[in-house]
Amino acid sequence: MKNIILFGAPGAGKGTQAGLLAEKFDLIHLSTGEMLRREVSQGTPLGMRVKGIMERGDLVGDDIVVNLIAKALDNGRNELLDEWDELRLRRACGIGPDDPLPEKPQPSIIYDGFPRTVQQCQMLEFLFQKKQRKLDCVISIDVPQEELVRRIHERALISNRSDDTEDVIRHRLEEYEDKTRPVLDYYKVSGRLVMVDGSGEISETNTRLCQVLQYVLAQ
Ligand code: ADP
Repeated sequence: MKNIILFGAPGAGKGTQAGLLAEKFDLIHLSTGEMLRREVSQGTPLGMRVKGIMERGDLVGDDIVVNLIAKALDNGRNELLDEWDELRLRRACGIGPDDPLPEKPQPSIIYDGFPRTVQQCQMLEFLFQKKQRKLDCVISIDVPQEELVRRIHERALISNRSDDTEDVIRHRLEEYEDKTRPVLDYYKVSGRLVMVDGSGEISETNTRLCQVLQYVLAQ
């Protein structure tokens, strides 16, 4: 039951890579961006609160995202796990075919887009203490600034995300520099940070990430 954070600037490829890794290693993929977009598209009270914030490219409040993560961790055999067939669940938890499944199976989790502020890092630490989880590794996908800008603009041409417009993209990158980059220093000190070169093709980055994951999951 490992907990792995995939860190990176907007455009670094966190979402794509987290999806590929989750599929390959049977991990639960928790993306705060996706969870928030789901709330917005379902028109929930929370979705209505965050819609404008996301459209401006601002970060959503720390309490809101930490609550989403806490809820996902609480649910145990929740809607995330319900999407899995039993075989995959058993494999992910290392439970044999004839052994009973526990009430709350706990596969490993890859966190994508969270934590994004130092405050969120501290809140996550507290949450992990309460839920008897621990952070195993933070993997940062490293991409030069010019390449990030090029990729987000390219994605903007095909995406229907309302926060993929010129001004908003610039603001998201500013928010990243101001509030999210300090997260790297926070984890550097703890010695759990691994930097991976993400400047090349999706498959190249994926190969590097798989090597790290293989090592972390075997510990
Ligand atoms: P990207 O990394 O491409 O900017 P995400 O899907 O991770 O995209 O996030 C989209 C938006 O959702 C962010 O710009 C922000 O408004 C909100 N968001 C996602 N995760 C967080 C978080 N951990 N803290 C605050 N806001 C968040």
